[in-house]
Amino acid sequence: MQSPRERNFISDNNAGICPEALTAMEQANQGHVAAYGTDQYTAEACDLIRQIFETDCEVFFIFSGTAANSLALAAMCQPYHSVICHTMSHIQNDECGGPEFFGGGFKLLTVSGPNGKITPEALKRTAQKRTDLHFPKVGAVSLTEATEVGTVYSILELEALRSSASDLNLLIHMDGARFANAVATLQCSPKEISWKVGVDVLSFGGTKNGMAVGEALIFFNKDLSREFEYRCKQAGHLSSKMRYLSAPWVGVLKEDTWLKYAKKSNTSAGYLRDGLKSLGLKILFPVEANGVFLQLDERLMAGMLYRGWKFYDFIPAGGCRLMCSWDTTREDVDQFVSDMADLIASDEDRRDEVELLQH
Ligand SMILES: *Cc1c(COP(=O)(O)O)cnc(C)c1O
Repeated sequence: MQSPRERNFISDNNAGICPEALTAMEQANQGHVAAYGTDQYTAEACDLIRQIFETDCEVFFIFSGTAANSLALAAMCQPYHSVICHTMSHIQNDECGGPEFFGGGFKLLTVSGPNGKITPEALKRTAQKRTDLHFPKVGAVSLTEATEVGTVYSILELEALRSSASDLNLLIHMDGARFANAVATLQCSPKEISWKVGVDVLSFGGTKNGMAVGEALIFFNKDLSREFEYRCKQAGHLSSKMRYLSAPWVGVLKEDTWLKYAKKSNTSAGYLRDGLKSLGLKILFPVEANGVFLQLDERLMAGMLYRGWKFYDFIPAGGCRLMCSWDTTREDVDQFVSDMADLIASDEDRRDEVELLQH
């Protein structure tokens, strides 16, 4: 079995820190600076976020996306509420019950929908199914932009969802772990897929787009952020040396570096899709962000893993997920596609030599 590659397609959080974030962190590493977010770097990062979103908003820097989502939903809902989300959503599948735990008992209600998206009809159906006292009151909907399967809600789709949510009196949370990728794809301004389409609270991802750690939790609905600093502190999400969490945001928000890298990883994914399609392979979802979902039989999966490539092979029905990162190169993609071409042309079978189902 070949040694692992320097870069792989397993997840955009396997990539390191982009130079701009690292430099900003180094520059912040001077002298003594006020703790717990009362420093100038944190103030500047919050101002930059207000600038790029073109609105007044409250911003909190949180260590992980799981915590950002969980604490946001806890601030938006009562323990007797429910939150509508997609069956494939991160809050449902990958947060170990964090939202329900921090929410003190609220329930997630899942809805399915094509391409990882919730439709207004499904939202309405689910919200109106039970409205009696014995069922948890539907309080919010959580949308993931870009979605867990690498698609992107268009502005029109978000407007339609906003209209339904507002008819149903629901707050809107957006899990934007890959929000930057969605902005890059839609070539819109950040406000057009956030507060202008009714998003009350946005978990704006930094980690997967080239930062070391940290997500920005943005309250466009400032009423919901009342006493949020206590919730953060209690959960252990008030960073003491906050400058190291916030300064990298200054580094990537300046000069649109965050968009540059999002575009780059999206472009790599498009290039990867084209290469794999040219080999006759089937792509499972439209490639609209930085992920490619590929149908692959076990022989091909095993052969690629044997060659030292890494990717998730857990997608049901013989699928695998290939994530591109801010540092994915054309050469990485070329090498992957050429290895795949060799493998397809051969009868090599490594199924007994590698372990499938890594997830
Ligand atoms: C990665 C990711 C998160 C954040 O996960 P953490 O590991 O907790 O930082 C949240 N939502 C989605 C859709 C993600 O892909």
